[in-house]
Amino acid sequence: MKTFTVGPVEPFKEIADAYKAAPCYFRTDEFSALVLNNLKRLATLMGTSTKDGILYFTASGSGAMEAVVCNCLYPAEKVLVINGGSFGKRFCDILRFYDFNFVSVDIEFGTTLTPEILSKYDGQGFTSLFVNLHETSIGLLYDINIISDFCKRNDLYLYVDAISSFLADEYAMDDYGVDATIISSQKGLCLSPGLSFVALSERQIEKCQQIKIKRNMYFDFSSYLANIKRGQTPFTPAVGIMHEMHNMLDLIEKNGGLTPWLQGIAGKSRYFRDKASQKGFKYPSYPLSNMLTPLVFDTISAHKVFELLKIHYGIYVNPCSGKQAERMIRVSHIGNLEEKDFDMLLDALEELVTNHGINPVA
Ligand SMILES: *Cc1c(COP(=O)(O)O)cnc(C)c1O
Repeated sequence: MKTFTVGPVEPFKEIADAYKAAPCYFRTDEFSALVLNNLKRLATLMGTSTKDGILYFTASGSGAMEAVVCNCLYPAEKVLVINGGSFGKRFCDILRFYDFNFVSVDIEFGTTLTPEILSKYDGQGFTSLFVNLHETSIGLLYDINIISDFCKRNDLYLYVDAISSFLADEYAMDDYGVDATIISSQKGLCLSPGLSFVALSERQIEKCQQIKIKRNMYFDFSSYLANIKRGQTPFTPAVGIMHEMHNMLDLIEKNGGLTPWLQGIAGKSRYFRDKASQKGFKYPSYPLSNMLTPLVFDTISAHKVFELLKIHYGIYVNPCSGKQAERMIRVSHIGNLEEKDFDMLLDALEELVTNHGINPVA
């Protein structure tokens, strides 16, 4: 079995036993020290100097997205959402759920965000912007500099879901002027699913303290902010994943640190895309994250390809949903994968497409 999914990913053996080897109780000085050490190293990888400003939740990434919406906005804000697919839509759904006033900047499939699209919103009183830096549903990577420039010149708070970009593409939270960065354990960090993280800027921590309305109890930041100073959380965390994280951060360090890690993933995505092209497979021309490559099928059902890879080869790739379900699959480049694994996948795909008589899309 091989997993080419974007998260959970094909695990590294270094994290496999972290769970079993570690003590499971967590209200201890030792666990606090582990948490503080992990978060400090995470801050460095994210490019932020925030102090006591990284919170973590026992929830999937969507929980952290919801937590940011609940805790980071004044009631009367005017919010912009960059919406290029199902994760952009998720921010819209959460904002609507909590009755916030927002405008969805819809990015049509096949296109990307340009400075011209955003400049239409200059000087219109918007106060915050939400973006999924990598719209994982289709593999689209936005240009953070365009967004960062817009937010700086219009004085907006900037909230970035970097869940499927962090640790695959470059990211520099403080340089971009990001006020909250959201990440999740099962994506770039390559850990089990169950933990998500929010890094807050200094000005966002102050803003949170000004917001008097409480919208959610489990995700109330004031309680997490107070607890994290001593390396603790208000509720029981997914202890095992914190231990996995320690091993994973060691692994990244052992490989030379952030830059070689990112270069390794970029190299794998380049390798896969070149080989795929040579074999006649196609991928979209919009800007892609290094984390994954969407493969486009014109004459056969992509969903069928997903199913047959699973059944006949024990290979898992990401299917797509909605309009792209029949047209695209997504192949991840993170996790414990090597060039020979991508060769194996492409050989299997070639064999499937030629031999299996997959039904043409109607
Ligand atoms: C995976 C992902 C999430 C989180 O999804 P969960 O299933 O809640 O972990 C959020 N945003 C993006 C861009 C993602 O890729």
